[in-house]
Amino acid sequence: MTTAPRTIRQLTETVINQIAAGEVIERPASVVKELVENALDAGATRVEIATAGGGLSLLRVIDDGHGIPPDEIPLAVSRHCTSKLSDDIHAIHSLGFRGEALPSIGSVSRLTLRSRTAEADSANEITVDGGKVGPVRPVAANRGTTVEVRDLFYATPARLKFMKSERAESSAITDVIKRIALAYPDVRFSLTGTDRSSTEFAAVAPDGEGLLQRIAQVLGKEFPENAIPIDAEREGIALSGYASIPSFSRGNALNQFAYVNGRPVRDKLIAGAIRGAYMDALPRDRHAVTALFLTLDPELVDVNVHPAKADVRFRDPGLVRGLIVGAIRHALEMSGMRAATTGAS
Ligand code: ADP
Ligand code: MG
Repeated sequence: MTTAPRTIRQLTETVINQIAAGEVIERPASVVKELVENALDAGATRVEIATAGGGLSLLRVIDDGHGIPPDEIPLAVSRHCTSKLSDDIHAIHSLGFRGEALPSIGSVSRLTLRSRTAEADSANEITVDGGKVGPVRPVAANRGTTVEVRDLFYATPARLKFMKSERAESSAITDVIKRIALAYPDVRFSLTGTDRSSTEFAAVAPDGEGLLQRIAQVLGKEFPENAIPIDAEREGIALSGYASIPSFSRGNALNQFAYVNGRPVRDKLIAGAIRGAYMDALPRDRHAVTALFLTLDPELVDVNVHPAKADVRFRDPGLVRGLIVGAIRHALEMSGMRAATTGAS
């Protein structure tokens, strides 16, 4: 059987963006993650998130960050356009760097971006509907940026079929906010429209005391009372945070929060190290609660592993694992299972 070769053609911009959206935007919570990361990269001190219909009918993120200059607004929704990365992929200091989120989201939804810088005399707005980019129009708005996403996945019905219940999508959104909020105590976050009426984390001091307050806001005030401080360093890699005493465990690992240079990660190596640290203290079906922060030279970790940027690869995985296991075990031993707040008061 012979078939004539088909002509090779360049895909349209919209199709290219929809392919990227398939990787970056899995569900409404992925959109929230990208938009909130953008707000934080813009130096926001207040981030307001509103959702409806589990995020599928509406997602809105309002920030008071530095905004986007009027002439750059079309670039913000264009593929591979970013203000965060120059020509060096090795030193990433921001949460975003791929210039993919906004064009991807705009290719599968109806997106409106409104932004104003401190210098501009008015705000400007642009819409992207199923990949179709509209003109820039002046509108009235305060300094900062608002991104509104309606009818997510209307342009990719196959993806829409994979959505879970409204409740499940809402709780994934809440989880994303909690994970990000924990690492930014001095930023106020509010979330409305998910079925747990509303969630709000008031801004606290950007110091250790504030961090402990934010941890209590996010993980519940019983956590600091039942956690021990972790503070260790090995070959320039620092580990800090809190880990629960063995009696304060959970039936799943959802309350293990970990950060690499301020970026929330879900990393197998870190999860495995936590399991290893509690091996003798917890039965296999129980899981510790943690808020752990790894700080290391950005060159020693690759965050460009997966489009959603939740996976990382360490240059020396053994060193990181050893640091985490050693630090938690040491803390558990030293504390004699005494709670963090008991030690501090
Ligand atoms: P990335 O974050 O990887 O740069 P995005 O597609 O998420 O890519 O955003 C593209 C660009 O739009 C950003 O680099 C930034 O310059 C601008 N931008 C997006 N959201 C905001 C925001 N909330 N505040 C200020 N600028 C923003
Ligand atoms: Mg981004």
